Amino acid sequence: MASSRNILPPQLFYEAVEQSHVAISITDLKANILYANPAFQRVTGYNSSEIQGENESFLSDKHTPRPMYNELWECLHQQKTWSGILLNRHKDGSRYLAEVSIAPMIDEQGETVYYLGMHRNITEMHRLAQQVKNQKAVIESVVDSAPVVIALLDDRSEVVLNNQEYKKLARDLQAKEPANVFLEVIKNTLGATRWEECHAAKTHFENQEVRLDLGGRHPPRFFVCSGTWFEEHEDGADDFFQPRKRDYLLLVANEITQLKRQQEEVRMNALRALLAEGELVDRMRETLEGAIHELQVPINLITAALGVLERRAADAQDKALYEALQQASNSGHRALDKLRHCVPMEVNEAMVPLNLNELMRDALSVFTERLLSEGIVVDWHPALVLPTVLGQMKRLRNMFKQLVSNAIDSMGENRNKNRELRIFTQHTEDTVTVTIEDSGHGIPEHLRFRVFEPFFTTKKRGGTGMGLATVQEIVNSHAGSINVDPQYTEGCRFIVQFPTANQRINR
Ligand code: FAD
Repeated sequence: MASSRNILPPQLFYEAVEQSHVAISITDLKANILYANPAFQRVTGYNSSEIQGENESFLSDKHTPRPMYNELWECLHQQKTWSGILLNRHKDGSRYLAEVSIAPMIDEQGETVYYLGMHRNITEMHRLAQQVKNQKAVIESVVDSAPVVIALLDDRSEVVLNNQEYKKLARDLQAKEPANVFLEVIKNTLGATRWEECHAAKTHFENQEVRLDLGGRHPPRFFVCSGTWFEEHEDGADDFFQPRKRDYLLLVANEITQLKRQQEEVRMNALRALLAEGELVDRMRETLEGAIHELQVPINLITAALGVLERRAADAQDKALYEALQQASNSGHRALDKLRHCVPMEVNEAMVPLNLNELMRDALSVFTERLLSEGIVVDWHPALVLPTVLGQMKRLRNMFKQLVSNAIDSMGENRNKNRELRIFTQHTEDTVTVTIEDSGHGIPEHLRFRVFEPFFTTKKRGGTGMGLATVQEIVNSHAGSINVDPQYTEGCRFIVQFPTANQRINR
């Protein structure tokens, strides 16, 4: 390197300095300018005659803090290069920010003989950087104080930015990342295939309702979510000529719990009235079916007796008896037909996607007063989010109502024990499981299957024996299963399982 430098003509170095875009000056030890290149003239606005012999301090705007200059000179006296930003004044009076570097020129005796100064105007660069910083601060404070939950997710679904509302929700959900919970529900609502398509095509989604069941005494919370995908160009040097993009998802969730609660109150009142009416109809149906069942027995006997008499050679007495029995049989069948006509028809409901947490809560709220008056502690552990199940809303709600009612009855018969009703909902990819445990008298092993038979009851008073038979029928018609857990000895544990809506659609 040293040898190649030796052979280059000095004029070349002079030309290089003259042509440079950086303002270059050479001063004596008092900072009096001995030389300044054309770029110096362009940056400061002064021509060479105005510069020549001037002290560098003529550029000073006198607003640069004094300690900066002290530091500058201290550095130079130690024969070190100083770099920093000074506030300079242009010839036209305007101020500009100068990025300055000053190096001492040292001779062979180790003495400083000149100073070499280089500077460039960085006012515009600083303005742009400051503008970006200010805009970022404004955006961050707007996002942070926005009354909606906001999260920015990168392409690995990691949250890279969030706001105060998001942080609050994260605290409420404890260990769970709210953004992932929202996306799980939205994915479930849209279906895996549509979600993949939406993700691949970066299609925005909006107004997706998300229900979060926090369990315990907490009422469910509702949000309306929207998602917007956008691309950001990578800003590294590697990406200057071949820019790479990164995808981000901006997730915004607006809490509508308050509104939902008002709607819910109205809905619950309507539901209570509907359920009371439904209960009446169910009881009527059960009573009539019970009566039909009981009437059927003597009528079957009469029919059998008629058969016997028919086969026997009939004498006059038998004939009279035969006719009397015939009449009894006929009027019995007529009565049965009338009764059958009186059995209220069941309305065939449409199958719709349902959230079993919601139906279970409905069933529980119907019994609020009874649960309180009987001192039953309800331990409600819903899955935070639950995939939907395809089903008939009224029938499934009635099914839960029946199971809760049975549990309350059973605990009522068992006065000495703690009365606890524990309900859990869980899910896997394809199954939703609802577990209902009570601390009642339980179901003995040998009756585990019989309790589902029509007209079979273990209740000492008032049981028609149709409750669990109806439950079984509803479960079957939803491709589900219901079992009494033989392992559970504290009372009774029913495990009800249904395929998820997605599972049934994909079947
Ligand atoms: P003071 O700092 O009080 O300076 C008064 C005089 O004494 C000036 O001539 C100053 O140059 C000189 N001086 C001050 N302290 C010392 C010291 N310890 N040893 C020797 N001489 C000293 N300043 C700018 O504001 N903008 C620039 O672009 C700029 N470029 C410079 C380039 C070079 C190569 C050098 C050597 C200095 C440069 N300075 C620049 C610093 C400048 O010389 C002044 O120190 C500074 O502007 C403060 O000036 P002042 O009027 O407040 O006076």
